[in-house]
Amino acid sequence: MPGSLLSAKLVNTEQISSNTLQLSFELVQDERECFTFIAGQFVQLQFEIDGKIYKRSYSIANTPDDFKATRQLEVALSLVNGGVASELFKKAAPGTELNIAGPFGALTLPETFPGQLILAGTGTGIAPYRSMIPQLKALTDKGTPVTVLMGFRYREESIYSDDFAQLSNIKHRTCLSRESRLNTAEYEYAGHVQDQFDALNLNPEEDVVYLCGNPCMIDDCVTILRDRGLSPRQIKREKYVYSGH
Ligand SMILES: Cc1cc2nc3c(=O)[nH]c(=O)nc-3n(C[C@H](O)[C@H](O)[C@H](O)COP(=O)(O)OP(=O)(O)OC[C@H]3O[C@@H](n4cnc5c(N)ncnc54)[C@H](O)[C@@H]3O)c2cc1C
Repeated sequence: MPGSLLSAKLVNTEQISSNTLQLSFELVQDERECFTFIAGQFVQLQFEIDGKIYKRSYSIANTPDDFKATRQLEVALSLVNGGVASELFKKAAPGTELNIAGPFGALTLPETFPGQLILAGTGTGIAPYRSMIPQLKALTDKGTPVTVLMGFRYREESIYSDDFAQLSNIKHRTCLSRESRLNTAEYEYAGHVQDQFDALNLNPEEDVVYLCGNPCMIDDCVTILRDRGLSPRQIKREKYVYSGH
């Protein structure tokens, strides 16, 4: 049910990179039965601290099928020093209760694409693409070339690389903007995701690019892609802007 407010509890916290926590939430019994989402959507976590309600949005990182099987929603939280949600979830114990609103967002996939599909994300902006993996496999089976561009500052910050590395038909490139030594065997490239578009032989008539994560990265990519001739309808984006309240 889009936009509904559900009771949930934290069931697991796992540190999946030097600056990222993966949080798993279980929805309470009756409500979880009717919660569904489309890969690429996000939820809003709502929690109370000292009588004040805070709302923070997070992309769903597991697949709809995984949610049906485990009854758990996963999100990846990039830790911000002193951030309200970051500090809360660093310490939150399993069983911590909160509300979840959603699902929201339109960074979702159609069933076919005319040309190649490029999915670019920085940091936890990779999470919605992980949720899409079964659909990405179906697209490549139908002949759509799919490339995932992941951007991190350092290798130790990278997340979900293994999930994409094991997909034989999906190309992926991990771009490390501040790492001094690259491991070429692991599809690593120096620089930012926006440096990779020239290597992808873009067809401005047909190709579609998804962008998710850091707002500055998204603005830079849009400028580059528009210069290469892609129209706005060929560029889908989800900016991780901070709500700050
Ligand atoms: C649609 C949407 C989806 C999102 N999905 C995700 C997701 O999947 N994973 C995820 O980690 N985040 C995601 N975000 C961002 C997330 O909602 C929070 O803004 C983020 O987790 C910071 O929350 P906080 O309470 O820890 O920090 P806050 O208390 O909000 O921020 C504290 C201070 O840190 C600064 N700050 C906040 N965030 C950052 C940052 N990323 N880098 C540098 N400085 C910062 C701000 O200036 C702020 O004053 C998403 C945002 C949107 C709008």
